[in-house]
Amino acid sequence: MITRFAPSPTGYLHLGHAASAYAVWQAAERAGGEVLLRIEDIDQTRCKPEFEAAIHEDLVWLGFAWAEPVRRQSDHLDDYRKTLEALRARGLLYRCFKTRKEVAAEIDRAPHDAPKAFIGTELSEDEEQARLDDGHSFAWRLSLARAKDALGPRFQALEYCEMGKGGARTVKAEPDLHGDVILARKDTPTSYHLAACHDDALQGVTHIIRGVDLAASTHVHVLLQALMDWPTPVYTHHELMCDETGKRFAKRDKSVTLRALREAGARPAELIERVKEI
Ligand code: GLU
Repeated sequence: MITRFAPSPTGYLHLGHAASAYAVWQAAERAGGEVLLRIEDIDQTRCKPEFEAAIHEDLVWLGFAWAEPVRRQSDHLDDYRKTLEALRARGLLYRCFKTRKEVAAEIDRAPHDAPKAFIGTELSEDEEQARLDDGHSFAWRLSLARAKDALGPRFQALEYCEMGKGGARTVKAEPDLHGDVILARKDTPTSYHLAACHDDALQGVTHIIRGVDLAASTHVHVLLQALMDWPTPVYTHHELMCDETGKRFAKRDKSVTLRALREAGARPAELIERVKEI
């Protein structure tokens, strides 16, 4: 059993991360498995070296150890570029020149009973070239229609195993809920979806334990795994830690960062007690 903890260094780790880390290490310990640490820092505008250093320090303080080497995604952009290129060569991607605002407006205009998902229109070669010549920005989107064609009957059968507190259950994957997802942008050869799935496959991750806020992404990940012939790991999506008012902790809540709590005198064992019930 190989699992991983994959934080993004966009802020200091907080109690919610400690809860997630505890769930990851606990699962590995129970199964006699191994934990990998992965730094998901492809968004270079938001990630900072001091947050990355703090991840290591805070996890060590909490008593967690991981197998080396640590994979830092920004060091491997070429790997993601190659995967993107492979998908593109199979005709599964297209360039979408719409701005975020245009995409949001289109989703809003869709009928109420339709999934809140964007399906783009592919441009003719001439139209596309004209926009590229004008220097327009674009995103590489995975065409759901082409993905369906590529997988044939396998598309309808996409599923994954969710390991919850009550045991294992099979969940049907529904990539339709997401429409044509972005896999890269003009200047960044990957998105979270592509980099995470690539690395999980490369690193032989068999079990993914992460917050329920990422459960929706799993539907996309299962599709990518099928398209790339990567294995689908077993997933656990745990509940999120909330404050007394029921609001979930976020990176902007400075008072619950692990370093603030440590400076205020908290002991690792106390924090683990606080987070272990999620
Ligand atoms: N990097 C993601 C985050 O910090 C987690 C990704 C994952 O576990 O798949 O939210």
